[in-house]
Amino acid sequence: MILVTGGLGYIGSHTIIELIKNNYEVLVVDNLSNSKREVIDKLKKITGKEIPLYISDLCDKKALRQIFQDNKIDSVIHFAGFKAVGESVEKPLMYYRNNIDSTLTLLEVMEEFNCFNMIFSSSATVYGSPKSLPIKEDFPLSTTNPYGSTKLFIEQILKDLYVSNNKFNITILRYFNPIGADESGLLGEDPRGIPNNLMPYIVKVATGELETLSIFGDDYDTCDGTGVRDYIHVTDLARGHVLSLKNQHGLRIYNLGTGHGTSVLELVNTFEKVNNVKINKKIAPRRAGDIAECFASCDKAFKELGFKAEKTIEDMCRDSYNYVKNNK
Ligand code: NAD
Ligand code: UDP
Repeated sequence: MILVTGGLGYIGSHTIIELIKNNYEVLVVDNLSNSKREVIDKLKKITGKEIPLYISDLCDKKALRQIFQDNKIDSVIHFAGFKAVGESVEKPLMYYRNNIDSTLTLLEVMEEFNCFNMIFSSSATVYGSPKSLPIKEDFPLSTTNPYGSTKLFIEQILKDLYVSNNKFNITILRYFNPIGADESGLLGEDPRGIPNNLMPYIVKVATGELETLSIFGDDYDTCDGTGVRDYIHVTDLARGHVLSLKNQHGLRIYNLGTGHGTSVLELVNTFEKVNNVKINKKIAPRRAGDIAECFASCDKAFKELGFKAEKTIEDMCRDSYNYVKNNK
């Protein structure tokens, strides 16, 4: 059985679909801090499977022990955590407490119950400002905000744990920019309040909920002056987890991206074309802390896991909009 922490969230829920397609049995722990219970019903609709759900906080050790007591858990995919960069600058203690405490508690309970297989959601943010592109897994690591630091510290905790007990199989996945949604239109990303990330913002301008997209800088040294990122469809990302699960051995670290950069303007133009909508936009100053360009080297994940992203930017734009239109 695979325990999916944060399984009601954006990436966790899409990963559950791929796990079930691959005949894994899954159970979910989530505290609903950034998700809704109804996701479990949607997962049932999509997969045809009843998925056991524990509404519980990972920092609650007693409750977590009971979950491990009641289920034969072979592996854990650990998505749970807070993820908003700006909020982490305002509330660093809340971020350190939740992200690190939950991981420590989880790892302690896993060790207690002889469960030694773990996949962890890290982020390309741990590369800070990369010295060159594409970014490879052995590049130096640094962070610029508390959220990123929680990812970096957890990576270090996992590496130290592996040295102390090499029964563990630990895979650290560094995601680039996940966007898109399940093709059913039932699941997707719908952040509360005003979105910080580009795609959720574009979608809300498309639906009329927000008026104008601010493009943060058009004077970067990139193809058209706007910021470049490696956007990956969440369903491709989800497949990467299944491949990681099938190839667990020792401590491994992989980038999950497409290897291609797309600029803000390219993404907006594609969104307009694919969905036949107009996005009001204006050029605004650069956003503090942003880097010009970021995309992954995906060679390692391809060689060792056979992972290759398949979906296009068009797919990502269509599916992101489709989900929000269906669920307004
Ligand atoms: P999400 O917020 O949609 O999902 C996280 C889930 O974890 C939520 O359902 C939340 O309720 C739950 N959760 C949080 N703290 C918990 C706790 N203490 N106990 C139990 N449940 C808890 O986020 P997501 O976009 O699905 O991201 C999943 C993981 O991937 C996160 O760790 C995130 O930092 C990482 N990540 C995300 C992105 C991205 O752009 N979405 C990029 C890189 C890395
Ligand atoms: N961006 C933008 N307007 C927005 C949100 C983001 O121009 O309202 C730009 C941002 O400067 C970056 C890219 O879009 O170049 C992706 O930003 P996002 O926050 O989605 O991802 P991250 O910067 O964390 O990789």
